[in-house]
Amino acid sequence: MRHDDCLFCKIIDGELPSAKVYEDKYVYAFMDISQVTEGHTLVIPKKHTKNIYETDEETAKEFFGRIPKVASAIKKAFNPVGLNILNNNDILAGQTVYHLHLHLIPRYDEHDGFGFNWQMKRDDYSQEELNDLAKKISKEID
Ligand code: AMP
Ligand code: ZN
Repeated sequence: MRHDDCLFCKIIDGELPSAKVYEDKYVYAFMDISQVTEGHTLVIPKKHTKNIYETDEETAKEFFGRIPKVASAIKKAFNPVGLNILNNNDILAGQTVYHLHLHLIPRYDEHDGFGFNWQMKRDDYSQEELNDLAKKISKEID
């Protein structure tokens, strides 16, 4: 359940301080120490799971099931113009804490501190190539 060397497990257990937003049997939500934008909130499952790959379906169900209510609370509290929800898995994707978490990042304008480079490559793949890519994934689904 808990990993003794995990920062977020320590936060859940109150061994490290956090600005708590919400807590129930399954999840804990708190302010990210580095507020990319004002209201930047992290939501984590109480059950330690390293990242999305190691997350069982039951944990995922309870965890993701609570995201809309935290997101709606952020919207009410800060009245942002938009909201990005982000989950980083492994180093290249920017994961620094190995306890599953979602970033809820309210957006205020184009220069509010959050941004990512999302290159659209719509003309690079034919429908056939897309079908081949889809097959590669679907044959791996249990
Ligand atoms: P990631 O880079 O996706 O693994 O996100 C980890 C996040 O945890 C970063 O945005 C950090 O700012 C945040 N973080 C690290 N330590 C703490 C802490 N003690 N309290 C709150 N947030 C933290
Ligand atoms: Zn943990």
